[in-house]
Amino acid sequence: MWRFGPLVLPGAVDAAVTWPEGNTPLIARRRIAEWAGVPALQLKHEGMNPTGSFKDRGMTVGVTQAVRVGATAVACASTGNTGASLAAYAALAGIPALVLVPVGKVALGKLTQSLAYGARTLLVRGDFDDCLRLVREASEELGVYLLNSVNPFRIEGQKTIVLEMLDQLQWDVPDWIALPAGNLGNTAAFGKALREACSLGLITKMPRLLAVQSDGAAPFAMSYRENFRVRHRVRANTIATAINIGAPASYQRAVQAIRETNGVVTSVSDGNIMEAKAIIDAAGVGCEPASAASVAGVRQMVLAGIIAPDARVVCVLTGHVLKDPESLDRYHRGTEPPPAHANRPIEIDATVRAVADVMRTLRT
Ligand SMILES: *Cc1c(COP(=O)(O)O)cnc(C)c1O
Repeated sequence: MWRFGPLVLPGAVDAAVTWPEGNTPLIARRRIAEWAGVPALQLKHEGMNPTGSFKDRGMTVGVTQAVRVGATAVACASTGNTGASLAAYAALAGIPALVLVPVGKVALGKLTQSLAYGARTLLVRGDFDDCLRLVREASEELGVYLLNSVNPFRIEGQKTIVLEMLDQLQWDVPDWIALPAGNLGNTAAFGKALREACSLGLITKMPRLLAVQSDGAAPFAMSYRENFRVRHRVRANTIATAINIGAPASYQRAVQAIRETNGVVTSVSDGNIMEAKAIIDAAGVGCEPASAASVAGVRQMVLAGIIAPDARVVCVLTGHVLKDPESLDRYHRGTEPPPAHANRPIEIDATVRAVADVMRTLRT
């Protein structure tokens, strides 16, 4: 993504702390498009970044900047992916990292990454919103460099999701770009990227943003329905841990992004998120629960008549399927009765006959 360096952090390309990241695939899968109700649906898979989420695009810039200003330590609050990414990039740069996560509310793949990459990982008795408040206070008092998406350098890096996508589309702008929305850093980054692409003359038409939350953590969707008259806060509770946020930090910049793109904000149920995820996973693509909200949101908007079936839509898949193995285990093995798309493992005796019995039930 550092080929966009001049638009991201001018003059830093040679000193960048980079893996490298970006250049993620833009793909089409008929079964997913059919389920969503939009034949011209494409998916930009940000789970294909080095630590498995789009957070790497912001973190390569943020940690590069931390090194430039001589930071002695870096810190973030996280629902999981920001911490995993910060831990990796801090290790690459050789700077100690503090990661604050809500105890018991982080997916296993993310928490274990943070430990593996060597970050000091603090399990805070509270939710993400408590973690963010705490790390902001602590970084001010203790002089640690803060790397949440309130840090503008993170947003600069995340702009490249949109720039790269537009480049992959030969700057032929889609009608809609759909993304999951939690702390709203990414929604803000998408708005900024589109604004800048417009003023640079790279595009002449704005795509519409569709920001999708979970019903259990939908303060931004509530505000949208009231034309942003009130900034809502809620106690968040959704299976999609990456968007389990009740008081989004980048609210104001995200409102601007929605207004400038004639965007829409909605929310979908956890059931719909997990159904979308099962469709995405079974198509061989795979993503974590929060990512599937983008596709579930598009389907909902098509059914509501807001997205036309012949629209050109890009959904951003924000994280990798391996991030959240517990949700997969629960979906496919745990829940009674099994959900429509559950794929139960089958225990058998070690005989060819037992395999043959299973083969007779295979769909072709
Ligand atoms: C961080 C994250 C989100 C939410 O992005 P925000 O910028 O907080 O709105 C969604 N999905 C995944 C996988 C994430 O890691």
